[in-house]
Amino acid sequence: MYFKRHDHSNITERIGRKSRKVLSLSALSVCALVLTLMCAFSNSNICYAVAYDGQIVGQVSSRAEVDAAVEAAESTVEEILGNDVPVIVPDLTVTARVGSAPESAEDLAGKLIESVDGIVWRWAVTVDGATVGALDDPDGLHVLLQPILDRYTTDSTVSAFTRQELECSYTLVSAELTSDPVKIAWLLDPENVQSPYRVTVVTREARQTAEAIPYETEILYDEDGYSDEVSVDRQGQEGVLSHNFVAELENGREVSIQDLGSCVSSEPISEVRTVGAIPGSRTDSRGYYIWPTVGLITAGYGWRDTDVGNAYHQGMDIANSVGTDVWAADGGEVIYAENTYGAYGLMVKILHDNGEVTCYAHLSKILVEVGEKVAQGELIAKMGMTGYVSGPHLHFEVRPDGENPVDPMKYLEGWPDPE
Ligand SMILES: [Zn+2]
Repeated sequence: MYFKRHDHSNITERIGRKSRKVLSLSALSVCALVLTLMCAFSNSNICYAVAYDGQIVGQVSSRAEVDAAVEAAESTVEEILGNDVPVIVPDLTVTARVGSAPESAEDLAGKLIESVDGIVWRWAVTVDGATVGALDDPDGLHVLLQPILDRYTTDSTVSAFTRQELECSYTLVSAELTSDPVKIAWLLDPENVQSPYRVTVVTREARQTAEAIPYETEILYDEDGYSDEVSVDRQGQEGVLSHNFVAELENGREVSIQDLGSCVSSEPISEVRTVGAIPGSRTDSRGYYIWPTVGLITAGYGWRDTDVGNAYHQGMDIANSVGTDVWAADGGEVIYAENTYGAYGLMVKILHDNGEVTCYAHLSKILVEVGEKVAQGELIAKMGMTGYVSGPHLHFEVRPDGENPVDPMKYLEGWPDPE
C-alpha cells in the first residue's frame, strides 16, 4: 500500500481518504465501548440484598436469582420440616443496593435454609435416601450397624451388608429429628417388623462338603516270595474332593445357594504292596525231605544188636550236642508237640500235604505249637536227650501212611543238609 502511494498520487489520495474514514469509525467504537463498560459497572453495583426475619442473609445480582434462591430454599425447608406452607417468604425482605459483591443463588439458598428456626446441621442417617434420624458423630452409623451385622455373622461368613443403602452424611435436617442412638438402632433393626425402613442384612457364607477319592494299589512281585505273602510297603491314603458353595442369607434365613464347583483338596496316595511270585504258600509241602539237623548218624532204621528198649529201630539217629537246631524236613502242619513221657521224650510230628508224617524225638526244646504251619527248613526244635537215650541225638522218623515208620534214609539220600 505504501509502495503504491509513492508511485501513484491518485491512489494515495483515495487511500488517504479511506484512512480518515477508518479513524472516525474507530473513535465512534471507543465511545460505544466506554458507554457499555459504564453500563456494565453500574449494573454490577446494583445488588439485591435479601433479609430473612430482619437479618441480612446475602445478596445476588438479579431479581431472578432472588426468586430462584428463595424457591430452592423454600422447597428444601419444606422437605426437611415436612410442612407444605411457605416459611421463608412471609419473613423475607429484598432491598436493591449498590456497592456490595453479589454471591450465587445457590449460596443464598443455603444461607436462607440455615436461617430457618428448627433446621440444624447434623449427621443424617438415611436408608435408601429416607432419613431415619440424626447423629452427632460421623462414625455413629457404623457403631449402630456393627452389632446388627455381627448378629448374622458366623465363622463361615465371607461378607455381610445391608440390602438397602445406609448412609450417614452431614446435612441440614430438622432439629426435631430423633438423635437417640437407641431409637435409631431400633429403626434399623431387621427384627423390628414395625420399622418403616425394614432393613435387610444379607450375609454370604462359604459352605464345603468333602468326598473321598479312592486310592489305587500298585502290586510289586517278589520272585523269592510265595503268593500268600503280601506286605504293604506304603499304606494307601484316600484323597479329598471338596465341593464349594456360597449360600446367601437374608436376616439369617437362607435364600439361595450357589455351586462354585469342586477342587481336589488332597490327592490320593497309592498303596504299594509286594506279593510273592511263587504260587502257593511257603508252608506247602515241597514233596521231598531235607536233612532235619546236622550231626553223625549213630543208628539206622531196622534191627540192631544193642538197642535197650526196642529191638527194631523205627527211625534213624543223628547225634550232635544238646541245643543243635532241628528243622522241618518238609512243609506241613504240626500235629504233635509235647512230651510223650515215654521212650520218645519231647517230640514233634508234622503232617505233610501228601499225608506223610515226620517225627522228631528226644528234643530238649520244642519251638512250635500244634496246628502251626511250618515251612521246609524252618527251625522247629532243639536237639536233646529226653526219653530213653544214652546221649544227645535226634531220632527222626518218616511215616508214609501217618502211622507206620519206614527207613527215612531213602528220602534223605541225595538231599544236602539245609545249611
Ligand atoms: Zn532212634
